[in-house]
Order: sequence, then C-alpha cells, then structure tokens
Amino acid sequence: MALLEVENVTRLFGGVAALGGVDLQVEAGEILAIVGPNGSGKTTLFNVISGFMKPSSGAIRFDGARIDGLGPVHLAKLGLVRTFQQAMCFPGLTVRANVEAGRLGAGARRADALDRALSLCGLTGLADARAGDLPYGIQRKLGVAVALATSPRLLLLDEPAAGLSDEASGDLATLIRTVRDESVTVVVIDHDMPFVLPLADRVVVLDAGRKLFEGTPDAVRSHAKVVEVYLGTEFE
Ligand code: ADP
Ligand code: MG
Repeated sequence: MALLEVENVTRLFGGVAALGGVDLQVEAGEILAIVGPNGSGKTTLFNVISGFMKPSSGAIRFDGARIDGLGPVHLAKLGLVRTFQQAMCFPGLTVRANVEAGRLGAGARRADALDRALSLCGLTGLADARAGDLPYGIQRKLGVAVALATSPRLLLLDEPAAGLSDEASGDLATLIRTVRDESVTVVVIDHDMPFVLPLADRVVVLDAGRKLFEGTPDAVRSHAKVVEVYLGTEFE
C-alpha cells in the first residue's frame, strides 16, 4: 500500500480547474518530484493534500485512511506536513523558538525532535539567532527544520530551492537526501530541473492541472512531450 494515495482529485476556482482529476501515489521511503510550469497546479495539489484547501472532488488517503477534509493541524499530528513556496517563519523569534513552535504545533510527539531538526538542518549553532536576521538561504532551511520538528512521516516541500544560489541549492539537496535517509518520505515541488532531477527517485509532471507524465528522472529527460511542453531549451 502506498503511503499517500491521491485519487481523481479536482479543485475548481470559479470555472477554472486548477486540478483536473489527478491520480498520484507516493511510496514510503521515496523522494518524489512534482514538476510543471507556473500555474500547472503544483501548489494547489499540496494545498489539498496538506489540508489547507478542500478538494472539489476525489479522495486522498494517508496510510490507508481517508484524510480529505481534515485540517492541517490534524494532518501534522498524523505525520503529514508541508512547507511553503515563500520562506515563512516568525521573524522576531529565535531559530529555536520557531522550530519549537513546529514541534508543539504537531503535538510534540517526540521530545528530541527539536534538537534533531536543528542538527539535521545545520542550525544548532544558530539556535539563538533571531530568525528575521538570517540570510534567505538559512531561512529556507529553517522552514524545513520547523516541518521536521513535527516528526513527519511525509514531508511536502514547495519549491524549497527557489531563490537560492547554486551552492545553497546543493546544500539543500544534501539535506533532503539526509531527511529521506532518516525514514521521512519526501515529495518536492520544483521547476528547477537541474536541482530536482538528480534528487528524485521518481518524477510526476503536471501540466494545466493534469498529470502529463510520470517516470524516472531519466525517462523524463528523454520523454519528447515533456521536453517540448516544459523543459524547453534547458536540455537542448
Ligand atoms: P503552480 O504552483 O504550479 O504554479 P498553482 O497551484 O499555484 O500552480 O495554481 C494553479 C492554478 O490555480 C492557476 O491558474 C492559479 O491562478 C489558480 N489558483 C491557485 N490558487 C488559487 C486561489 N486561491 N484562487 C483562485 N485561483 C487560484
Ligand atoms: Mg506553486
């Protein structure tokens, strides 16, 4: 059984189908990448999976149980959390207080989750720094640390490398692999193919709210329609 199953999920905004019937399975232990052009429904998909929005129709199961209709706090307690496309933290609070907020928000399921999240994200030495004073790249890592402090089983990352330098992106890719090796299943949205393809075990390509293609990173690289519709000149 897949850890997460998305079955024929739609989400309408007025007359527009941001998701037009998406099926998706996430297997425990994998890193799944979701790629697609701007407006293709990637964030909406995360919003409905993580309980920030209700799907218009369809079913979502986590560990076999229906979760569509449950809110984000409930889902975080079950072990399903997401990060946001924009770096989000409490700027006036310390790094430690931000991460502790994540741990408490999900019911503080593990006492050691705070230190573990700080250490995995390389933030132990910055624990007393004010979050708002940190460079952007570190704030993005803090977002991952806050999510990790909830002791997730499934972590959804929305464009974690957006706005990062190549070096900071490389750091983040290493962190994402480490997180997976700590038995957290990861779904990562990104439209930066050079970042996400080497990281992913499997890739789902969305286009206009529908699944255009699904396969290994190599298959995506060589799939003609994906290259034409989406990858454009990047791989020519
Ligand atoms: P992506 O993350 O792939 O860039 P989104 O999921 O943000 O795409 O958006 C998919 C489509 O849904 C876009 O056409 C967008 O304008 C629309 N959309 C997303 N969120 C809302 C919203 N809250 N209200 C109305 N339309 C929305
Ligand atoms: Mg988005």
